[in-house]
Amino acid sequence: MITGLLNRLRRGRSDGRKPSSYPMSGAGQKAWLASRWPWIEVDVEGTHPEAFVHCLPALEKLARCWPEPFAALKSIRATPESVGWPANHVRAWYDGKGGMHLRRAKWGRATDGERCEYLLSHEFGHHMEAWLLDNMEMRDVVAWFIRANFELGKEISDYAAISPSEAWAEGFEEQHNRPQAHWHEYTRRQATLLSPWKA
Ligand SMILES: [Zn+2]
Repeated sequence: MITGLLNRLRRGRSDGRKPSSYPMSGAGQKAWLASRWPWIEVDVEGTHPEAFVHCLPALEKLARCWPEPFAALKSIRATPESVGWPANHVRAWYDGKGGMHLRRAKWGRATDGERCEYLLSHEFGHHMEAWLLDNMEMRDVVAWFIRANFELGKEISDYAAISPSEAWAEGFEEQHNRPQAHWHEYTRRQATLLSPWKA
């Protein structure tokens, strides 16, 4: 509990409401999502509501900070095998077409608020990349940025070193969740590039 709080203060996360102030049933969460972002297809049937509730403040923060790319989000899905995920591990992926997916994993960290913020903002980073690469005016500059800064991006995390696209998503996660004083150089450059879309 104390560790979680210290982490939050250190990393500047979870600035939204407490998860306990969000709907705690699956149906309630589905209705909550539909009332806020009716264009997003939500299929979270089979997720554990006590775990999925942590995703709601994370999504709210993404919507508030990045309204234009958030409006281009098409779907959020969690696979049925993710039933019971507070005790399990969750991974996420982006389908390249506006869809964010969550699924149960054999390894990794258990689901909590910080994990949800990490997963969803990392995947939203992939969404932001796809969205910008779809934009005629931005396509070339973003593609160049991702190629040209990959070496720098590898410094963010082990995962960032996997590919230029993962470096981009890790940089986005850092920009979105951590205080500016803790940003890597890659993230600083990315923040400058993305500043027109930050609310
Ligand atoms: Zn990724």
